[in-house]
Amino acid sequence: MVLANWLEEIEATEVEHFVSYNCRKIYGTNIMSEHSFGSAVDIASINGISLRTEWTKNSANGEYLRQAGKAACNHFANALTPDYDAAHHDHFHLDNGFQRICPLSTLQRVKRAALKFAAGN
Ligand SMILES: [Zn+2]
Repeated sequence: MVLANWLEEIEATEVEHFVSYNCRKIYGTNIMSEHSFGSAVDIASINGISLRTEWTKNSANGEYLRQAGKAACNHFANALTPDYDAAHHDHFHLDNGFQRICPLSTLQRVKRAALKFAAGN
């Protein structure tokens, strides 16, 4: 499972999350959020480190969270951090919906090209 893989990569032993099933539209748009489909998760703290209070701090905890946010793009198509907008000031929003905000890694690009080739197009 992608969430478990990410948690393993960032060596998370404990996370606090907001409700992951919640029918709503993406802030400021008419598009249904991935939360409507139960396929998104919001992470508020990792290993007891709160995104709300630590994200911008020039500290080991702040750095850990920023690295965790970057690492999330290795596992999710969309990893919105507090840098994204005010609505996300206190959490990571993670999903694998149809839109993509995270850049594809080289490995992901190679995998996609191989799948396309195997499918004959
Ligand atoms: Zn969210």
